[in-house]
Amino acid sequence: MIITRQKPIDDILKCLDGIEKVFIVGCTQCATICKTGGEEEVKSMRQVLEGKGKKVTAAEVWDTPCNLLEVKKRFRDGKDAISGSGAVLVMSCGDGAHTVCAGTGMNVVPANDTLFLGQSERAGRFNEVCALCGDCTLFMTGGYCPNALCPKGLQNGPCGGAKDGKCEVNPEIDCGWLLIYNRLKDAGKLDNMKKIMPPKDHSRSIRPRRIIVDAVRKR
Ligand code: SF4
Ligand code: SF4
Repeated sequence: MIITRQKPIDDILKCLDGIEKVFIVGCTQCATICKTGGEEEVKSMRQVLEGKGKKVTAAEVWDTPCNLLEVKKRFRDGKDAISGSGAVLVMSCGDGAHTVCAGTGMNVVPANDTLFLGQSERAGRFNEVCALCGDCTLFMTGGYCPNALCPKGLQNGPCGGAKDGKCEVNPEIDCGWLLIYNRLKDAGKLDNMKKIMPPKDHSRSIRPRRIIVDAVRKR
């Protein structure tokens, strides 16, 4: 899932400076789990903005504001309220904010910072697990990602600097390559540690990327 964190309210208000009417959009998916754009947060944002003298034209939680078709449909259904607003405050990830902008042509203000692709460990705790490299090698590393778990992004680790199992770059985290080693050991695949992984194919992560699913399936 995509992990987001709400911007400080003062920053949001600065972005809305001079804008009287605001349409608020949340997201039922990742932003709801991150508590940055679910029903509760949208309602609370409405109260804050109204308390600051803004007129909130509507405060809705959309299924997937990152889906252009969904956004266009919502725009058709609520065109008057949306178009009559000075901005849409989007409480989702950056993808949602971008898509709302593309699907409505409105002035969009993101309420959240989009941080990383992560795993929900439990309520309110998220771990980064994938750096979206486009060239997945988890089959070699026991399912743990060296790009996400090793601050140096080493494809062939460890670097040798770990102390008491902790990373030399950030002693607050476990050495990602020690985790990989232990996972491979448990799986009886320690031989993988001796295999040299080739450099990442960075051409797969040149931005912006675009995927047409039918074409991928035929590869
Ligand atoms: S190897 Fe690449 S695609 Fe696979 S989990 Fe790591 S960053 Fe993500
Ligand atoms: S100590 Fe481990 S996680 Fe930290 S940089 Fe070295 S190999 Fe990577």
